[in-house]
Amino acid sequence: MRTTRTRTAAAALTAVVLSLSLAACGQSSAGGSKEEKADGKGSTIGIAMPTKSSERWIADGRNMVAEFKKLGYKTDLQYGEDDVDQQVSQIENMITKGVDVLVIAAIDGRALSDVLRQAGEQNIKVISYDRLILGSPDVDYYASFDNEKVGELQAGYIVDKLGLKSGSGKGPFNIELFAGSPDDNNTRYFFQGAWKTLKPYIDKKQLVIRSKQTKLDQITTLRWDGGTAQKRMDDLLTSAYSSAEVDAVLSPYDGISIGIISALKSDGYGTKSKPYPVVTGQDAEVASVKSIIAGQQTQTVYKDTRALAKQAVQMADAVLHDKKPEVNDTTTYNNEKLVVPSFLLDPVSVDKTNYQAELVDSGYIKESDLR
Ligand code: BGC
Repeated sequence: MRTTRTRTAAAALTAVVLSLSLAACGQSSAGGSKEEKADGKGSTIGIAMPTKSSERWIADGRNMVAEFKKLGYKTDLQYGEDDVDQQVSQIENMITKGVDVLVIAAIDGRALSDVLRQAGEQNIKVISYDRLILGSPDVDYYASFDNEKVGELQAGYIVDKLGLKSGSGKGPFNIELFAGSPDDNNTRYFFQGAWKTLKPYIDKKQLVIRSKQTKLDQITTLRWDGGTAQKRMDDLLTSAYSSAEVDAVLSPYDGISIGIISALKSDGYGTKSKPYPVVTGQDAEVASVKSIIAGQQTQTVYKDTRALAKQAVQMADAVLHDKKPEVNDTTTYNNEKLVVPSFLLDPVSVDKTNYQAELVDSGYIKESDLR
């Protein structure tokens, strides 16, 4: 009898402890509700990023994993190392393993139609991250920045810095143009924004492109590679600048800017009598911000990847709850199969005068990393 009573009491105590600890489990670490955590729990998000060779994609992956985790999701984060086949097979594996949503920054925007058909057949929603996936109907949402504005900011900076505006008649100044990877849809948008901004000054001969290389297919840089850009800048300096100096270089990305600056340095630029031209960039990578502080690169475009990650997470979370994600553009991004509903964030031009406020004070880059 005594034994039975003791057992009953022990069982009751166990039940209380169990229900208390279950209740405790219901609180997410961020203090969210029981439902919030239970919601994300069990769902896995496949995140396919293009490369670790650039800081921004490392941060994008890290930020998304952290944000998804806060909501109780599991993640499978893979980097394709700029190898298209590798990225396709990584996505294939994610689908086989049964992820619930895919977030993809494509290496080659046109290479994913087949693998995404499999995703579509299994009703796995696809969020195109930063770079639009082209030619596939199986793309549900797009999270990015206003990509045309990126090009406008880069070119607008050159126009301002050279004092070309409002009929000043200044010039002629020599400029050379670089664009990003031909297989990245953003390349077209960046260049479109830049060209539109530069064209009036080219037409008025205030800007001169001595190389005459102005068409996108003459100026792209496969896989955004800095070494490739360095080689092209070397060639330009040899072929078009033996008796002249270059005053500005439109560069679409910090890694490319660093390559261009190396070529300029080898050619004797960076002195009082032969100063560096205005060189633009994008991504506010640490090496480039240091270069800006040192007076080599002139400008970069800061895109807060923390905010972008949050948008993508918001989209995934909404589709998994059969809700419509928040979007702010439903007209611009036609991927040739559909206009993909998008959320576009604002890029910001950064140079020596505002890097502290935009990058350091905002916590995007640690002050100590710039020393
Ligand atoms: C991104 C840029 C980045 C470039 C190279 C583009 O798709 O939008 O932020 O500089 O890829 O990684």
